Amino acid sequence: MDLADRVVGSVLGLALGDAVGAPFEFLRAVNVPDPLPALELPWMDLPPGSTTDDTAMARNLARSLSERGGFDADDLVGRHLEWFLSDPADAGTLTRRVLRRVARGEDAEAAARAVWEERGPEVSAGNGSVMYCAPLGCAYAHRPRELVELAPRLSALTHVDGRCRTAGLAVTLAVAGLVRGEEREAVVRSALDAVREREGGEELEHLVDVVGSSRAIDGPDQGFCLFTAAVGLQAMVRSPDFERGIRRVVSLGGDTDSNAAVAGALLGALVGESGLPAAWLRRLRDRDAIRAEAEALVPLAATGS
Ligand SMILES: [Mg+2]
Repeated sequence: MDLADRVVGSVLGLALGDAVGAPFEFLRAVNVPDPLPALELPWMDLPPGSTTDDTAMARNLARSLSERGGFDADDLVGRHLEWFLSDPADAGTLTRRVLRRVARGEDAEAAARAVWEERGPEVSAGNGSVMYCAPLGCAYAHRPRELVELAPRLSALTHVDGRCRTAGLAVTLAVAGLVRGEEREAVVRSALDAVREREGGEELEHLVDVVGSSRAIDGPDQGFCLFTAAVGLQAMVRSPDFERGIRRVVSLGGDTDSNAAVAGALLGALVGESGLPAAWLRRLRDRDAIRAEAEALVPLAATGS
C-alpha cells in the first residue's frame, strides 16, 4: 500500500462513513437497527448512498487545497459559502449561523467568534469543523509542524471554541501519521501527546478510552466535537477492519454521520482505498468525483517527504 492509496482511502472513507451513518443521525443507540442496513436507506428523501454536509465541506476543502496548492482560508470560505447558498439538504447549526454572516460580508473568523460569544461555550463545541478536517491532514502529511498552526485555524473559520480546535488538530495529526504509513498505536499516542496541554486535550484522551462503553454518545450532548474525535480515534486503534469499525461507530447512535465520517477518514487512511469494502463503494453516490478530488491531493501529501 502506498501513499496515494492511503490518501484516497481517507477521503473516500470519510464519504463512506458519512453515507452509512446518515440515515441514523440523532437516534439513540437502542433505536439503531441491528444488523445495520448500510447504504440501503434513503436520507432526507435522497437515494441510499447519499452523503451529507460532512462530505460536502470535506470536498470543498480537498478541492481548495489542491487548486490553491495548500491551505487558503479565503478560498475555502468562498467554497463553503457557495455550497451554503446552493441550499444543501443540511448544514450544521453553527456553520449556518457563521455562513449567514459571511454572506452579509463579514470575515469568517470574526463571524465565528461573534457567534461563539453570542451562544456561549455550552453549545458552541459542536463537531462541525472536526467532521470535515481530514483532507488537511492528508495534504500536510509530511509537514505535521504546519498542521499545528493550520488545523486550529481551519476550525476557527466556523468553530473557534478551543475544544473544536483541539479535536481538529488531533484528527489531522492522526490522519497525517497514518498517511505516512506509521503504525496506528504510535499514531494515536503522538496525536494525543500533541494536544494534551490544549483545551480539552486531557478530556479527549480519556474519551478515546471510554466512548461507547462507560460514556454514551447518544444523549443531548451528542454533537460534541470531542465525542466525534474520540470515537474516530478509538475506531482507528481498535477496529479489525473498515467495515466492522464503521458499523460499530454507527451502532453507538448520536451524531452517527459525523462520527462515522471521522472514523471513516482515519480507518480509510489506515487500510487504504484497497481496504475499503467494495460493495459499499459501489453504492456511494459521486464516488468517482470524490475519488478524483482525493487523487489531486496526493502531490501535496508527498510534499516534504
Ligand atoms: Mg452531516
